[in-house]
Amino acid sequence: MSAYTLFLRLEGPLQAWGDNSKFVIRRTMEAPTKSGVIGLLCAALGVSRSKASEDWLPKLSALTMGVRIDVPGVRWWDYHTVGAGMRMRIAEAEGKTKPGAMLTRREYLCDASFLVALQGDDESLIYELSEAIKKPKWTLYLGRKSCPPARPLLEPANQDKTFPNLESALTSVEWRRRFRGDLAPQTVDCLLDWKPIPGQPEAPTDALVWYDEPLTFEPPSHGPRFIVRQQLTIGPEGNIKVSPMPLQNSTPSPPRPRANYTDSKYRDARMTRLAADNGLCVFCKAPATTVQHITYRNAGGNESEEDLRSLCRLCHDAVTMIEYGLGMGLDRINPCEPRWRNEIVKKRDEIVKYRSLETRRRRLQPEEVE
Ligand SMILES: [Zn+2]
Repeated sequence: MSAYTLFLRLEGPLQAWGDNSKFVIRRTMEAPTKSGVIGLLCAALGVSRSKASEDWLPKLSALTMGVRIDVPGVRWWDYHTVGAGMRMRIAEAEGKTKPGAMLTRREYLCDASFLVALQGDDESLIYELSEAIKKPKWTLYLGRKSCPPARPLLEPANQDKTFPNLESALTSVEWRRRFRGDLAPQTVDCLLDWKPIPGQPEAPTDALVWYDEPLTFEPPSHGPRFIVRQQLTIGPEGNIKVSPMPLQNSTPSPPRPRANYTDSKYRDARMTRLAADNGLCVFCKAPATTVQHITYRNAGGNESEEDLRSLCRLCHDAVTMIEYGLGMGLDRINPCEPRWRNEIVKKRDEIVKYRSLETRRRRLQPEEVE
């Protein structure tokens, strides 16, 4: 069985493949998301968001996607204002508002290069997409409109061949230098779609879950997708071989930095966070009694206020229980993200229901006891 394959090269000074965040901090994933790549194909086809949901999304989501991270790039922040001079009003004390702009921060990948393979059984669909990418109806960009591609998106090699799977497709294209002095890395990582197959109905335990499979573009809504990380080794001529073991099995995850609650820099970040959240739980707006790490990447005294969120005891316990259940590593639950909402609400209810009244009296703020 072989599948028709479309190869794209996503390369540019800036790329931004956003997660689902809709708030003032907009991060980027480490590689192109499926919703981002499908959005790009829709722009090439000249299909609007509302029309895409009807006829194109089912076809495009059914394609399997693999990404080879040829150059991972460097993460960079941009300061960004929204709505200045557009009659935007921002909150002031005592429920009043004043004219102003919303301040946001956006994260980018600088100088990254990705090889994307999209596979499907429908030869005419793959052909139609490659023609559209060659002569796009609308402007193409790498995740955000401020991110133009640095070269034509169609990877010339192997467009007309078929491959049995994503892995063989991604190994068929050589790793290439962009500049004469570039040194080839020893390995590159691939992120491959995982779908259930007969005999293997469950995803491998080390599979990642990304919420980037577009269900509709208007309103934007995304479903989960399993991704398996695979490491490829690069030979002296830039040719690529598959390493026998997937990366996640062969490399133990680094120990996560521990929080140090007595560190003065941590305490400063904690106070700044509490002040920024007005001393209220970001989830339920009860008085905050604790500050939670949403990532441990900078734990131990290098935390910024963006690594923390203010929570009340009940929401803190709910979030922590969900995190333990999922065996989360460095990056934890950001209670501001809408995708956690229902789960936190459910866990809060469970905690309230199962704790004895005595425990509740001792551990919860009066307004948390329902
Ligand atoms: Zn709360």
